[in-house]
Amino acid sequence: MGLTTKILVGMIAGILLGCLFNFLNMSQLLGEGVTSAINLYLTEGLFDIIGRIFIASLKLMVVPLVLVSLISGACALSEGSRIGPLAGKTVLLYMLTTAIAITLALCLALIFQPGVGVSETAAEATAAYQPKESPPLSEVLVNIFPTNPVAAMAEGNMLQIIVFALLMGYAISRCGEPGQRIAAFFNDMNAVVLRMVGVLMVFAPYGVFALLAKTFADLGFGGLLQLGKYFLVVLGALLLHALGTYSLLLKMLSGLNPLELLKKMWSTMVFAFSTASSAATIPVTLSTVEKRLGVDNKVAAFTIPLGATINMDGTAIMQGVATVFIAQFFGVEIGLTGYLTVILTATLASIGTAGVPGVGLIMLGMVLQQVGLPLEGIAIVIGVDRLLDMVRTAVNITGDAVVSSVVAKSEGALDEETYYDANYKSVSINDNQNTVGAH
Ligand code: ASP
Repeated sequence: MGLTTKILVGMIAGILLGCLFNFLNMSQLLGEGVTSAINLYLTEGLFDIIGRIFIASLKLMVVPLVLVSLISGACALSEGSRIGPLAGKTVLLYMLTTAIAITLALCLALIFQPGVGVSETAAEATAAYQPKESPPLSEVLVNIFPTNPVAAMAEGNMLQIIVFALLMGYAISRCGEPGQRIAAFFNDMNAVVLRMVGVLMVFAPYGVFALLAKTFADLGFGGLLQLGKYFLVVLGALLLHALGTYSLLLKMLSGLNPLELLKKMWSTMVFAFSTASSAATIPVTLSTVEKRLGVDNKVAAFTIPLGATINMDGTAIMQGVATVFIAQFFGVEIGLTGYLTVILTATLASIGTAGVPGVGLIMLGMVLQQVGLPLEGIAIVIGVDRLLDMVRTAVNITGDAVVSSVVAKSEGALDEETYYDANYKSVSINDNQNTVGAH
C-alpha cells in the first residue's frame, strides 16, 4: 500500500472509531466501567499521546524548513530581481481569493438565513462565555517585522521568519563569492531538511488515525442539531469555494487543469483536516506543491509559508457566515455598509489569523466588533467549530497551493510535466532526488 492510501485508511478508520467511541459514551451501551476504561486508556491515553507526538513532529520541521528553504529560494529569486513582482502578485492573489471567499459566504448566508429561528436554548451558552480580545490591526502589521530573529524562530512567528529569510537571501545573492558558498550550504541543507520530513512522514498514517479517533470521540454532535443550518451553510460555502472558485481561478489565470491539483493535494488536505493547523501542515504542503505540482522551490518556499500565515479563505468563509448568523440571531440589521465592512475586516483578519486550531474564531471577534455585533455571539457557534475548523483548514491550504501554482506559472517556474504526471509517487516526500537543490 502506498503512503497516500495508508494515510486515507488512517483517516477513515480514525473517524469511524472516534464516532463509535462517541456513540458508546453517549449511550453508555457497554456500561460505565468499560466506557471509562476506553476514555482513560485509549481516547485520553494512547490516541492522545500518539496524536500529540505526531503534531509535534510536524511542527518540529516548520521553522527549519521555512528558514532554509526560503533563504535558498530568495537567493535564486534575487539574482533575477524577481522578489518584488513575485511578492506583489502573491499577496494580491491571496487577498483576492479571500475577498471572493467571504463574499461567497455572505451571499449564501443571506440566501439561507442560518440564524433565523434558532431556539433560545442556544443563547444560554452566551452567559458563560468570556470573549477573548483579538489583537488590533496596527499590532498585526507592526508584528510582521522582527526585532530578534532567534526569538521569532523560537516562537515560530512565521511572518517574522519570512522577513528575516528574505533579507538574508537577498544579501547572500549580493555578496559575490562568500555569498555563493553560503547559498550552496543552504541548498544542501534544504535537501537534508526535506529528507527529515520524509522520514517523519512514514509515521503519518498512525498519527492521522490517532488524532482523528480522539477528536471524533470527543466531539459533541449535539450542537449539530441546533446549529445544523449554520453548519451546512459554512460547509456548502467551503466546498463551493474549494471546488468552484479555485477551479475557475486556476483555469482562468494559468490555464492549468484544476482536477490535477485537487487530486494531488488530496492527501495534504487530509493532513490539514486532521491537524486543523495550516502552520503544522507547511512541511507537507511545501513538498507536495514542489514535487507533485512542479512549482519551483524558489516560488513555493515563499508562497506556501506566507499563505499558511496570511491566506485563510476557509476561515474568512466561516467568519462571513457566522457574522450573518449572529446578526440574524440577535435581530440586528447591519446593512450593505456593514457587509462591505465585513468583507474588508475579514480579509484583514485572515492575515492576522495564526495557522493553528481555533484562532479563526478569536479573530471573528474583530469582525463582529467592527460592525457592532455582540461578541457573545461567538459562544453560540463555538459548539460546532471544531469540525468546521478541520474542514476550513483543508480549504485554507488548498488556496495556498492554487495561488502558488498560478504565481509559478506566470513566473515560468512551473514544471508542467510534473504537474500533469499521473504516475507521481504515492508520497513524493520520500523521493527528493528530483527537485531538491534544483535551483
Ligand atoms: N485552523 C485554521 C488554520 O490553521 C485557522 C482557523 O480558522 O482557526 O488554517
